[in-house]
Amino acid sequence: MKVISTINEIKDLLTERKKEGKKIGFVPTMGYLHEGHLKLMEECKKVSDLVVVSIFVNPAQFNDIQDYQKYPRNTERDLKLCEELNIDIVFLPSVEEIYPEGPISTLKMRIPHLMDKLCGSHRHGHFEGVIMVIGRLFHVIQPNVAFFGKKDYQQYLIVKEFVKELMFPIEIIGVDTVRESSGLAKSSRNARLNSEELEAATLIYRSLKIAEEYCRKKATTIEELTQVIQEVLLTSPLIRVEYISILNARDLMEIFELKEEIFIGIAVYVGEVRLIDNHIFKV
Ligand code: AMP
Repeated sequence: MKVISTINEIKDLLTERKKEGKKIGFVPTMGYLHEGHLKLMEECKKVSDLVVVSIFVNPAQFNDIQDYQKYPRNTERDLKLCEELNIDIVFLPSVEEIYPEGPISTLKMRIPHLMDKLCGSHRHGHFEGVIMVIGRLFHVIQPNVAFFGKKDYQQYLIVKEFVKELMFPIEIIGVDTVRESSGLAKSSRNARLNSEELEAATLIYRSLKIAEEYCRKKATTIEELTQVIQEVLLTSPLIRVEYISILNARDLMEIFELKEEIFIGIAVYVGEVRLIDNHIFKV
């Protein structure tokens, strides 16, 4: 496994590999790796000759400097996990390497119909920062295929649209959410929860499953279903709801009736930690 921290070095190496006709698979991450990330890497390995994993906590996508500073980091452990999975290249750039002029760019890329809702309307500038770093990483690595988790479903759809609009010759593959046995979606942020908060956080997925059952049992409305979810979440005093959104799963457009493929997205604070999850099902 090669660990590379400069753009020049990784470009040189990948140019050589591409000349040999190798198919490059890419998994971008912010590190503090867990089984969700590892699943993306495993899926990537299945279809690629060479797997590149990036570990980079992207300052441009944090609207809250404290959240950026408190984001968990453990490079040594991450590298060990990548090594165990036989990852070919880990790209570990510094902030200066990715943003030589600083992480605030003059270029603002927006996809309003996908960005102006859910996390986009609560984390100002977040998705602009995400596609900025993804765009730069795609230019550096030029993968044939890249993997994204559906835990961040809105991000997955935005990246797909971004790649289509800018004609990047890259296939984007979405991977289902990996969960703890309690149902809690794996997240690097879970490391910041104490045991009571971890217990409370299990209500997130529980509320989503209860919503699905409720929907299947009787005809209901979006308002009523939102209420059902809210009531489950608020059984814990440790949870503060940021949003509960019920949308069309295909394009995250507003729906007025519960039919076809439904997306329910939730963002909550458990104590100080912001967590998101979603559930997609057909009715
Ligand atoms: P992050 O390091 O949180 O930016 O995540 C890097 C990639 O891993 C993103 O594409 C995420 O959607 C994906 N990911 C994070 N958590 C999970 C999970 N529990 N299951 C599947 N994919 C995940």
